[in-house]
Amino acid sequence: MIPMNDFRLQAAGIRDELFAAFGRVLDAGWYILGKEVEAFEREFADWLGVAEVVSVANGMDALQLVLMAHDIGPGAEVVTTPNSAFATTLAILRVGATPVFVDLDPDTYALDVRRVGSVLTERTRAILPVHIYGQAADLEPLAQLATRHGLVLLGDAAQAHGATYRGRDVATYGDAVAYSFYPTKNLGALGDGGAVACRDPERARRLRRLRDYGQGRRFQHLEAGLNSRLDELQAAFLRAKLPQLRRHNQRRRALAALYQQRLRDLPLLLPVEKEYGESVWHLFVVRTPRRDRLAGFLRDRGIHTLVHYPTLIPFQPALAPRGFTPGMFPVAERCAQEFLSLPLYPEMTDEQVEEVCAGVHAFFEAEA
Ligand SMILES: *Cc1c(COP(=O)(O)O)cnc(C)c1O
Repeated sequence: MIPMNDFRLQAAGIRDELFAAFGRVLDAGWYILGKEVEAFEREFADWLGVAEVVSVANGMDALQLVLMAHDIGPGAEVVTTPNSAFATTLAILRVGATPVFVDLDPDTYALDVRRVGSVLTERTRAILPVHIYGQAADLEPLAQLATRHGLVLLGDAAQAHGATYRGRDVATYGDAVAYSFYPTKNLGALGDGGAVACRDPERARRLRRLRDYGQGRRFQHLEAGLNSRLDELQAAFLRAKLPQLRRHNQRRRALAALYQQRLRDLPLLLPVEKEYGESVWHLFVVRTPRRDRLAGFLRDRGIHTLVHYPTLIPFQPALAPRGFTPGMFPVAERCAQEFLSLPLYPEMTDEQVEEVCAGVHAFFEAEA
């Protein structure tokens, strides 16, 4: 059996550190917005190379709070991607703004930066690229567009903790970048968690207020915020896991390189790593029109796969009233039918990758 992830194996590697983290919180007797949260925010900010990190309850809230902290709401348009977790767009909808989707870059599967210029209107307030599957979207052209048109440049790095663009972490680009610590992410909590990275201390102060009911002083509510705080317990667990993140990302890179080498002579589109940065390989996503048959074939051999994502966001039932129709995003629509995520997690062995690749080879031999 080869799963998509093995959390017990990951926890086993740092069992003592996790129990020590639990003990610290228990002994402190302080569970919300305390020393662990403060320390984790500083440690993750240093790890990313940004001035400020504000932790929150989950990745979806991180995105919503980023939009709120930039006063993006009703009447505003936000340019984003049709290929992401639904949370990216849901955050835009929750603040009352309008998502505007552009088709995908056929190499990175992130939004195609060449298409962004043509969808800008006088209502466009922000661009929200997603660094999907662990690879940076092409940020330089987006930064230029943002500057030229006075737009806020945001980022969804829920799958890209540590991904770089032109030698710097993606967190250092734009106005604010959102993270998730959902257990499957490259840095995962033992539950929900999220954060925002930004460089402006004033913005960070507003985010800290917004995550805590919009509270300035105690019992003084300056604006209508959320209740969205990272628990002390999760912050303590994340502090135990952060020191492994660089090594885990390197292991993901090594496994991805092995996949690339073993699968290269097959009628299968392999992921492309752009020259402008290093992917942290949150997922290893291949493409084939025979996706469903391949997934079934591998499942019969005990190899789990998943599809990220089978339905584009604009075509989700929740967005039906907005009238998006097939044919509007030809690249993304084709990808959604062909994507298949193969297992890739830091504790996976080379032998397991070989086994997956043997399964993929066997499939194409059987089909020939
Ligand atoms: C996981 C994820 C989110 C949502 O994060 P949660 O912590 O689950 O709310 C948002 N965007 C992307 C790209 C994600 O992968």
